[in-house]
Amino acid sequence: MGLSLNKVVEPQKIELNKYAKIYSNDNSPKKRLYVEGRKPDFRKQDIIAIVKNIKKLYLLPYTLWETVKLIKKIITPTKSKISKKSFDELAHFITKLQVDDFGFFEVTPEKIFKECGVPYKYALVFSSSMDKNAFADVPSIECQLEVARVYAVTGNIANKVAKFLQNIGFGASPNHSMGGQLDYSMAAEWAGIAVTGRHSMAITKSNGACNRISVVYTNIENLGDFIKYTEDMTWIRDFCEKCGKCIKKCPEGAIYEKPVILDGVNPTRIDYEKCSKGFMKYGCGVCIKECPFTCGNYEKIKSGFAKNKVKE
Ligand code: SF4
Ligand code: SF4
Repeated sequence: MGLSLNKVVEPQKIELNKYAKIYSNDNSPKKRLYVEGRKPDFRKQDIIAIVKNIKKLYLLPYTLWETVKLIKKIITPTKSKISKKSFDELAHFITKLQVDDFGFFEVTPEKIFKECGVPYKYALVFSSSMDKNAFADVPSIECQLEVARVYAVTGNIANKVAKFLQNIGFGASPNHSMGGQLDYSMAAEWAGIAVTGRHSMAITKSNGACNRISVVYTNIENLGDFIKYTEDMTWIRDFCEKCGKCIKKCPEGAIYEKPVILDGVNPTRIDYEKCSKGFMKYGCGVCIKECPFTCGNYEKIKSGFAKNKVKE
């Protein structure tokens, strides 16, 4: 029997759609899934590695179940504006979770995948690091286990933040890191905490391309009073233009030289048919490993790039 990510995340999608106030439209992109109907090709030693790491993995189905439960617990919000005191408490709560960067954006229909909807107008976006060492020998089962572990961590973050906000009277619905109603790399970009690289991963200041992302939809309309963007990361686009390492190193030739508009208004950077072949080899991850931002220091790369620009 083939793997179906769609089936795993379907209950979450059904619940978010049930309570949706904002829906996709004709300009929305189609959601693309890598492993739909494909059979994983695990070797004996991979099964042993999975069993040995079961402690890291058991949280994943639990967090997905918790996400569905929290979406169902839709409340009639008693507030739509957050006070400085409550925001400080929220920020403090977030820093105690394993969140490296967070931001927010306003959700509009063309940002949502086709046939999807979200219950609230604003989205808080959280990014957490994956262990770079797990990507040293990609494609590998170690890398796939690490991705699964951080899916659970980031899913849990969305659940906890949603619960926190519900408890103080706000509308809040988590969207687990597995099964976004919208493109999470772009969500991180819209939230000002990342720029989407040519490999389509969000490149963040803290963790380069080695991160996972989750989201909480909320009715808080004054997040902009407290979350300010101090870093213009758009220089990464010029860096990417000159770099192209992920394109050269991708074993399947799956990364477009120039992004294309397949549907909707947002560019598509990956040939998903080709990437899904790589993806079946332990999730691949070569493009993450090879990206200079994954192991390099953001500030050093930035200043080096600026100096070279001056010399040109
Ligand atoms: S995951 Fe692998 S196959 Fe897919 S784009 Fe990245 S390097 Fe290419
Ligand atoms: S490898 Fe280079 S081109 Fe690809 S996303 Fe990273 S910085 Fe951009």
